[in-house]
Amino acid sequence: MSVTGPRLQPTLFERSRPGRGEGKIPHPPKGSLDRIPADQRRAVPAALPELNEPAVVRHYVNLSQLNFAIDTGFYPLGSCTMKFNPKLNEWAARLPGFANLHPLAPDDLAQGTLGLLWELEQALAEVSGMRAVTLQPAAGAQGELTGILMIRAYHRARGDLDRTEVLVPDSSHGTNPATATMAGFTTITIPSAPDGGVDVAAFKAALSPRSAAVMITNPSTVGLFEARIGELLDAVHAAGALAYMDGANLNAIMGRFKPGRAGFDVMHINTHKTFSTPHGGGGPGAGPAGVGEKLLPFLPAPRILREPDGTFRREREGERPTSIGRVRSYVGSTGVLVRAYAYIRAHGGSGLEEVSSDAVLAANYLKWRLKDTFDIPYDRPCKHEFVASATTIKKETGVRTLDLAKRLIDHGFHPPTIYFPLIVDEGMLIEPTETESLETMDAFADALIAIVAEARVDPEIARAAPHTAPVRRLDEATAARNPNLRWRGMTGAQTPCPD
Ligand SMILES: *Cc1c(COP(=O)(O)O)cnc(C)c1O
Repeated sequence: MSVTGPRLQPTLFERSRPGRGEGKIPHPPKGSLDRIPADQRRAVPAALPELNEPAVVRHYVNLSQLNFAIDTGFYPLGSCTMKFNPKLNEWAARLPGFANLHPLAPDDLAQGTLGLLWELEQALAEVSGMRAVTLQPAAGAQGELTGILMIRAYHRARGDLDRTEVLVPDSSHGTNPATATMAGFTTITIPSAPDGGVDVAAFKAALSPRSAAVMITNPSTVGLFEARIGELLDAVHAAGALAYMDGANLNAIMGRFKPGRAGFDVMHINTHKTFSTPHGGGGPGAGPAGVGEKLLPFLPAPRILREPDGTFRREREGERPTSIGRVRSYVGSTGVLVRAYAYIRAHGGSGLEEVSSDAVLAANYLKWRLKDTFDIPYDRPCKHEFVASATTIKKETGVRTLDLAKRLIDHGFHPPTIYFPLIVDEGMLIEPTETESLETMDAFADALIAIVAEARVDPEIARAAPHTAPVRRLDEATAARNPNLRWRGMTGAQTPCPD
């Protein structure tokens, strides 16, 4: 079955016509098939669709235009930092010396890439205030797992084997408890304080000789800076536990707050968020993890080392027995890391500080524009993102946050993150980032205000939205858990996917 609508088209299989694909592209020279051993040849031809080249190109270009992207419009997806991805980064990542380097090339043929990665580690250590950084993790979630595995190794190395619990606030990203569970710990969920911050008293009460670590996001997932972080970190360390910082919100604090200096033992950095590498389609990303003194011995291997003569090499197998080992193939998502490096070098230290200032200014502006339309649960200045709630709107009109988000699509905007974090009723987490103009933010605020005004007159319009998208409301749970990614249904000889 294929999904078709005014802007969707039949699949290539449905458009296939026998013989259509022939003669337009070079064919193998006569007799070349004879050179393939008979037992290696297909018994029946591959059931590929037959179309000419223009039809194939148009098919894929039209499909690509169904995508919403930061390059086509405003994308205020809270917690995801969908900032513009400078094209300079793409140029750098495509330089043949980086793009064509074989992952198995010996170190002496990979000096440029190893040098760049080593320098990137230093830059990230500077931004995070950490002692050293591993670039291996493929995403933030894997950076978390790497960090928690290092914490596990630290406790084990000290013979401290009874620490089985990881404390996580209820506002945390789902990857935090998932990480703790994957590493074999029990997650203890701590309720947030009424002001949206960490409940330091509740954390202190839950700390015990069983605590291995706490995982904290600062600024938090509601966009607020944790002012009592010093007190909390002291309590964590006094209990013999270590502190993990979820660095997904680094875009708010560069040059102002260095988690390593504040006392965090380990943090991950989502380069695809803060350092502008394209994301949103499922990867690849990069989630470097920075560590303080205590976890240095446990960093994944191989680390990239600089020799006294200035050359670079990867650690040899078994060179550092305390390492937790490899968490990813080769040295990391190199293409993504080259982009992050280009971004950092293009901005410099003061530029990164300005990025954070502008991101915070933009979020506070947008919050101010929306304060009379939505409930604003936390009424103190936000960092790079803020939560708005539609609780009152729902009570008065029946229109929910989900409906408002769907209606935004008709206005040409990507909706913000909705219903995350879970602690806010009918919440939207809005993160404009520093790369948007005043006019774009005003247009977004005007659209949301108009949608709410419309809902007060005719709530059905929002409830049935989107009206202009290629598809309407999908069953998201089924789409995520049981995706239908394969086309079936051709009959006869052309059936491409017999079950
Ligand atoms: C994005 C995010 C993560 C996970 O990072 P990925 O790179 O998507 O794996 C973890 N915590 C928070 C708060 C995030 O926003």
